Amino acid sequence: MAKGPQISTGPEWADDALPACAVGMDLLRRLEKARPNDYAFLQAKDFVDLGTSAFVGIPEWDAFIEHCETCEDCKK
Ligand SMILES: [Zn+2]
Repeated sequence: MAKGPQISTGPEWADDALPACAVGMDLLRRLEKARPNDYAFLQAKDFVDLGTSAFVGIPEWDAFIEHCETCEDCKK
């Protein structure tokens, strides 16, 4: 079977697997509000290499990256 992208209503994070701190998650929720269609395609791998994600260029995502680069909690 072909492995296509999974269509979903967006990532749902388990409480113990959040990709960012509370501030970062707030930025992600802004992305969700501003671009619900794009947000629906956000996947865990987008958080592995933030700067090469297809979301680069979206202001809300860029704000999230900027936060992650300066936030001790989000840096890993
Ligand atoms: Zn953070």
